[in-house]
Amino acid sequence: MTGAPAAWRDNQFFMRTTIQTTAVFEGIGLHKGKPARVVFTPAEGPTGLRFTGPGFAQPLPARVDKVAGTVRGTNITDGKNTIYTVEHLLSAAAGLGIDDLDIEINGEEPPAADGSALPFAEALRKAGLREKPAQERRTISIADTVEFVKGETSYIASPMPGGLRIKLTYAHPHKLVGSQTVEFTLRPDDYLKSVAPARTFGFTHELEALKKAGLGLGGSLDNAVVIAEEEILAKGGLRFPDELARHKLLDLIGDLALAGAPLKDMYIEAVRPGHAGNVNFAKLLLEKAL
Ligand SMILES: [Zn+2]
Repeated sequence: MTGAPAAWRDNQFFMRTTIQTTAVFEGIGLHKGKPARVVFTPAEGPTGLRFTGPGFAQPLPARVDKVAGTVRGTNITDGKNTIYTVEHLLSAAAGLGIDDLDIEINGEEPPAADGSALPFAEALRKAGLREKPAQERRTISIADTVEFVKGETSYIASPMPGGLRIKLTYAHPHKLVGSQTVEFTLRPDDYLKSVAPARTFGFTHELEALKKAGLGLGGSLDNAVVIAEEEILAKGGLRFPDELARHKLLDLIGDLALAGAPLKDMYIEAVRPGHAGNVNFAKLLLEKAL
């Protein structure tokens, strides 16, 4: 993140942040395959990350209590309008340390972009970050260990002075995947360089079932890494040897943003995380927050 102020690079703001100018991104949605346009707009109030669209009576806050489903992506609803696959957009905003942002979508799903959060993060970065001097930033921290376990999926958060550090393990029995572990302290410049570019992925044996269920319709090698029986198909090759685990981290950051405030002074260890577990863990952190 060349040229960004040090405070932004290290996310050391104490006041709430939004973007300086409007930013636009267009493309097709991953699961529904329809053209989509996203407009990021600065938010004047301490309103958090919110979605708006043509049919919305009022903005829909990106919060755990609005989650409508977590199958192959995180969907939120106000009861009338549902927005699918919000996690990559939320990840970009949270990863860059943006507290307040209005995200206008002209359809049900944001563009898939290249399957990562990088195009969104770059658009937001280009729009510039602005600190709001009158609005103090609220963060979430914990006093004791918080744990969530379901089957082979587990999360454990421990208090740790500093920002937010996450260790994540992704594992799959496929012979080309195995187990991958990544660990990062979340700072906007590291997020942009090391997490945002990691693309979503799928296994060929899942793709048929996915399409039959009406999902993954916009998916192609332009916006996903595909793991076939004998090879990993990735446009331009894998961006990182552990791109899959990094993408899981990208998703986790996006889903944890649904807690409604940045997590701070915390060390999280996540093993085999998925959207359902991420959202439940975000709920639990909110319940246990100081
Ligand atoms: Zn994802």
